[in-house]
Amino acid sequence: MPNFTLADSVFEAAASRFPTPFHLYDEASIRQRARALNQAFSWCSDFREYFAVKALPNPAILRIMGEEGCGLDCSSSTELTLAEICGFSGERIMFSANAMPPEEYDQASALGAIINLDDASDVDLLASHGGVPECVCLRYNPGGDFSIGNTIMGNPGEAKYGMPADQLEAALGRLQGLGAKRFGLHAFLSSNTMAETYYPQLAGILLRLGKDLAEKTGLGFAFINLSGGVGIPYRPEEAPIDISRVGEGVRKVYQEICPEGGVAIKSELGRWMTGPCGWLVTRVVHEKKTHRDYIGVDACAVHLMRPAMYGAYHHITVCDKGDLPGDHVYDVTGCLCENNDKFAIQRPLPEIEIGDLLVIHDTGAHGFAMGYNYNGRLRSAEVLRREDGDFQLIRRAETPKDYFATLDIDPGMKI
Ligand SMILES: *Cc1c(COP(=O)(O)O)cnc(C)c1O
Repeated sequence: MPNFTLADSVFEAAASRFPTPFHLYDEASIRQRARALNQAFSWCSDFREYFAVKALPNPAILRIMGEEGCGLDCSSSTELTLAEICGFSGERIMFSANAMPPEEYDQASALGAIINLDDASDVDLLASHGGVPECVCLRYNPGGDFSIGNTIMGNPGEAKYGMPADQLEAALGRLQGLGAKRFGLHAFLSSNTMAETYYPQLAGILLRLGKDLAEKTGLGFAFINLSGGVGIPYRPEEAPIDISRVGEGVRKVYQEICPEGGVAIKSELGRWMTGPCGWLVTRVVHEKKTHRDYIGVDACAVHLMRPAMYGAYHHITVCDKGDLPGDHVYDVTGCLCENNDKFAIQRPLPEIEIGDLLVIHDTGAHGFAMGYNYNGRLRSAEVLRREDGDFQLIRRAETPKDYFATLDIDPGMKI
């Protein structure tokens, strides 16, 4: 069994109301995670999570985040518009930019967002597009490998994001000349990490660097932004991160480096916030026995790209067959003309029949959001299970009309 799931009867009830495939999200568990995170950092008076919109960009979800006291981390004009539609403005929005069209700074500035600059050259871009605000965030890239203990957890030296310390200093000097008074520091050094020491270690790096830069420039050091990267257990044998221990670890580092306080902490978690609270619900439509046994389902990689793109593991259960032994080995596939369109490869599962309902777990972050239209396949619906157990359609499935909407075709043609 995966670490967190709902009863099979819930998936069956949803599938009796909405045609498969669809992503189902659970409101109660999303709120619970937001509260656990806020509780873990409650020792820090000015902590705020800025939910990474790209992980699950649906207004119903973003409004829940707002109600739980979170801000939003946006990285495009469309995401800024989404944030605005959902009632976010001012410093409840973080705008993390890299190589973006300059007009997007104008939009972020007009909303009063905190702007996170990716490169020293962006200072002048910001100055001419919306102006330099009093408080600006800068993204740090230490280069080389990033290790926790003896384990390499990331390769900042190969990452396109952020700037080295000397460039940070130059950028801050330039920002100061343009009227900035305070600054924040951001870094994202490891993705989907299951190490509870990741945030504490990153906090140490940013707090030390920030104090050093504040001394050199005379600018006020306002906050560190620990960004995203805290992982979730995709495999049933993995243990979940204890977020209260993460918060406690950061507190210890903070008290050591910054006993006088005054520096706020921000996060931009995506995966950790919603990943375990989403499922792709799909029905078996085909079975084929050739060199392997293939189970064909009505979802495909356009609905969940992670297995095809990263070889990522997503746990799969078969509704009503949870008690049966996994004594059959299957490749579970979609219908794309693309051999990596497989949700599972050589996976032991109970014996599956056409018509069975399959649940693909942990799709609540970077799932629907990475969807595309390859092979003319259409994006699925998204359904929210409200706290009272009722289902709400929070995004309808695409129809062919949506696919053809951007094409110049004969208006008289019937679609
Ligand atoms: C993707 C991203 C996040 C969220 O990452 P998760 O791995 O989902 O936690 C946060 N901040 C920035 C700048 C990102 O690009």
